[in-house]
Amino acid sequence: MTDAVVDGKLEAVKQATKYVKETENVAEKYSAMTVSKNSDMNMNVGELQSAAFTAVPTLKPIKKIQFANAEDKQEFQKYPTKAGRRSLSRSISQSSTDSYSSAASYSDSSDDETSPRDKAQANSKGSSDFCVKNVKQAEFGRREIEIAEQDMSALISLRKRAQAEKPLAGAKIVGCTHITAQTAVLIETLVALGAQCRWTACNIYSTQNEVAAALAETGVPVFAWKGESEDDFWWCIDRCVNKEGWQANMILDDGGDLTHWVYKKYPSVFKKAQGIVEESVTGVHRLYQLSKAGKLCVPAMNVNDSVTKQKFDNLYCCRESILDGLKRTTDVMFGGKQVVVCGYGEVGKGCCSALKAMGAIVCITEIDPICALQGCMDGFRVVKLNEVIRQMDIVITCTGNKNVVTREQLDRIKNGCIVCNMGHSNTEIDVASLRSPELTWERVRSQVDHVIWPDGKRVILLAEGRLLNLSCSTVPTFVLSITATTQALALIELFNAPEGRYKQDVYLLPKKMDEYVASLHMPNFDAHLTELSDEQAKYMGLNKNGPFKPNYYRY
Ligand code: NAD
Repeated sequence: MTDAVVDGKLEAVKQATKYVKETENVAEKYSAMTVSKNSDMNMNVGELQSAAFTAVPTLKPIKKIQFANAEDKQEFQKYPTKAGRRSLSRSISQSSTDSYSSAASYSDSSDDETSPRDKAQANSKGSSDFCVKNVKQAEFGRREIEIAEQDMSALISLRKRAQAEKPLAGAKIVGCTHITAQTAVLIETLVALGAQCRWTACNIYSTQNEVAAALAETGVPVFAWKGESEDDFWWCIDRCVNKEGWQANMILDDGGDLTHWVYKKYPSVFKKAQGIVEESVTGVHRLYQLSKAGKLCVPAMNVNDSVTKQKFDNLYCCRESILDGLKRTTDVMFGGKQVVVCGYGEVGKGCCSALKAMGAIVCITEIDPICALQGCMDGFRVVKLNEVIRQMDIVITCTGNKNVVTREQLDRIKNGCIVCNMGHSNTEIDVASLRSPELTWERVRSQVDHVIWPDGKRVILLAEGRLLNLSCSTVPTFVLSITATTQALALIELFNAPEGRYKQDVYLLPKKMDEYVASLHMPNFDAHLTELSDEQAKYMGLNKNGPFKPNYYRY
């Protein structure tokens, strides 16, 4: 990054900070909305204070995951991970989970079959408070992080701007997210802002081993590697939370597994915790359930529904990564292909627009007439899956629902059809029904299976029905920068909020901060905002510094 670009970012941060500070103490400044109670609150994010951390009881490290009782164990086994399943047993011919590789990581083809749990490793400073595949890959991981930093300049400028203030001094953050170069930039930003972080992976396949190594080398306790088993997954979460003499006071979660683990195994953490920041639809849904049941014991920030997350991560990220995921796995040519996209929400819209632009003939399925009408206006045929399934070359699900593509429909699909999922959970396609004795599974490449019917018909199933882009490709760094900046601000806000601002409920990030995140990214495009004149502001009934839209505005 050139100095001029950095200066540009710093200027933008200064402007945006001014923009936040200028309206400080104005009641309408941050109209946080409790979603469950729908009440507005006044907030003051400018008052970034350090919160005192109180010493906590020590927790004994455990070797193997222990459950208080059989019921707890059963409940955990029912509970889906980000990877979408609890059991690693399967009936397909697959050598081992180690054979999985995503283009996101170039380091997982290691011959070393030893489980990281059985290895004694230490970083160059002698610390062994981590568990990664191979800490010696740190230098390689560092280069990956540096590449990511180049397209995450807004987050870097936030880091530079707030480094002196240390708004997260005293914060002890446990995080459970995909461990990628982009997450590393977020983690290192949180550390630069004063936080202590311990991190684990929210998905058993998505960890970039070399990045985990780089973090471990710099002293961040990371417990994650690509191709973890079910037991490893929970073991890593446990090692992350359960550290003698250290107790988390903030949670950053993606999918809700970490929150659930802490809630079940270490409920005392919530006595001191100042908040949970949750990124995913699924995790947020679980938080609302807890809140509804009166069981949420700390304030939680729903980052998923921030405009800067939903519109950018779901729409623009998927618009780019659907093509990447399909190409890397199948080398398919899109022009002229018949594609059906199930669900025309944010993700569906992104997928459809990319595929249409490549010359594919795209139709959609929808349950919601509003989204269906949007699809019609965008030039897509809205169909029932049953009516078109025989002709399709590619079937993509992105509904967030289950059993969207059934076994009966898979039986009718044509030879060579590619079937994949872009939604959070691996239940959108009824993959379980394909694990039956009459069908043969053949591993073609990493994350690509041929499922072969008795008559020789082959269906190409990608990532076993798990989220295609996160399993098989990378996602654009810039989009992740937006999400990561939102997450960092949500943590800062929750950690520094004066007592009483947030109750034990689920909140949306104040719109003002959403706008702030967007404004931080303006310099990337040399984009210049128009300022309201006094007269215009009065006419529109707006504060010149925002927020510019009401909470119900849909963008
Ligand atoms: P959304 O709610 O905006 O869209 C989902 C759409 O699916 C809705 O319009 C809904 O009406 C429709 N739908 C539901 N059931 C259906 C069915 N049986 N048949 C047809 N349509 C149906 O949600 P979204 O933001 O588009 O997210 C969709 C999924 O993608 C979620 O699971 C989300 O977690 C996931 N997601 C994935 C990525 C990624 O990178 N792959 C990014 C963000 C979100």
